[in-house]
Amino acid sequence: MGITTGAEPRVPFGDLSRSVDEMRDDIDTAMTEVLESGRFILGDQCEAFETEFAACQGYGHAVGVASGTDALELALRALEIGLGDEVITQANTCVPTIAAILRAGATPVLCDVDPESATLDVDSLASVIGPATRAVIPVHLYGQCADMAGIRSIADRHGLAVVEDCAQANGAEFRGRPAGTFGAMGCFSFYPTKNLGGLGDGGAVVTRDRALAERLRWLRQYGQATRDHYVMIGVNSRLDELQAAVLRRRLPRLEGWNKRRAQIASAYEEALDDTPVRPLLALPDRRHAFHLYVVRAPNRKEFRTRLERRGVETAVHYPKPLHAHRPYGELLRAPMSLANAERLAETVVSLPLYPGLTDEEAQTVATAARESALS
Ligand SMILES: *Cc1c(COP(=O)(O)O)cnc(C)c1O
Repeated sequence: MGITTGAEPRVPFGDLSRSVDEMRDDIDTAMTEVLESGRFILGDQCEAFETEFAACQGYGHAVGVASGTDALELALRALEIGLGDEVITQANTCVPTIAAILRAGATPVLCDVDPESATLDVDSLASVIGPATRAVIPVHLYGQCADMAGIRSIADRHGLAVVEDCAQANGAEFRGRPAGTFGAMGCFSFYPTKNLGGLGDGGAVVTRDRALAERLRWLRQYGQATRDHYVMIGVNSRLDELQAAVLRRRLPRLEGWNKRRAQIASAYEEALDDTPVRPLLALPDRRHAFHLYVVRAPNRKEFRTRLERRGVETAVHYPKPLHAHRPYGELLRAPMSLANAERLAETVVSLPLYPGLTDEEAQTVATAARESALS
């Protein structure tokens, strides 16, 4: 997604090979275990990962699925939300959030976000609730939790289910409580670039409700309750054994990686102090997982070009609000004011931030960001 220059940037926006090199032996061992077990789908690794992942969220149940998008879709289906139902989410999320709503058969409705933190705007949420609204999906975008207290209180008042999109927020907290534990279900992605990533696709749903967890297990396996006994219309969406085995080895490292992310983020914040380029606000009652480090640059194109000349690759998450993607936008209910999401789409820039970044590289980014913001 970076600007193409022909030359290799000195600091790449992402480099997944580092997260493999860091623990290559562990990964080899995990893979070998699976190869020797002869079980590749729904075996011991997936089950153990589910237990360990739920425990690390301090939560009841985790159900492994094939992706974060599937996690969202199956969460809605488990709640029997589908045709004729509306599901609200925020306009600045990425496409998979609404793709999942549509695949569940429901109609996505967008609301606006707070311009300073890019998190869901609770008043805007309230303004788009209608008679067909069944659920809200707050997206803990870039790694920062939405206002879960405000969202819960509106959702409870209107009888809406809350399904959290935690794809970018593994390890984030709101007032000391982990992302994913505020609503009926929390949906995670283990796409390789996420804070906890696999070596392919993967996802999970966490819930404290045993009955919902059971339905999710049916749904991910064609609706199968026991062999040759089907109780729902389901899909094929399972977390495979190789991914689960790798994720089990990576899970204990997540906390340390998130700390490293936060450390780099604070260096960037300091570097951008008193410049026209403003980091998104990290709110004091939340623990940010810094999946991405996003700033607002009034003149984005020039800011990115200046960074590129200093050897720093950047990206934009996301250059268009959801409703601007025609195939999806056409399916959204009614035009509404999404001014903050639209403005953010024009100004946001993501700086390189991942645990494998060296101190020297982080320093290069910090210096380049400050100089580019001031020149
Ligand atoms: C990555 C992501 C998803 C989708 O996860 P996949 O595993 O790629 O299906 C959904 N929502 C958000 C906010 C994401 O960042």
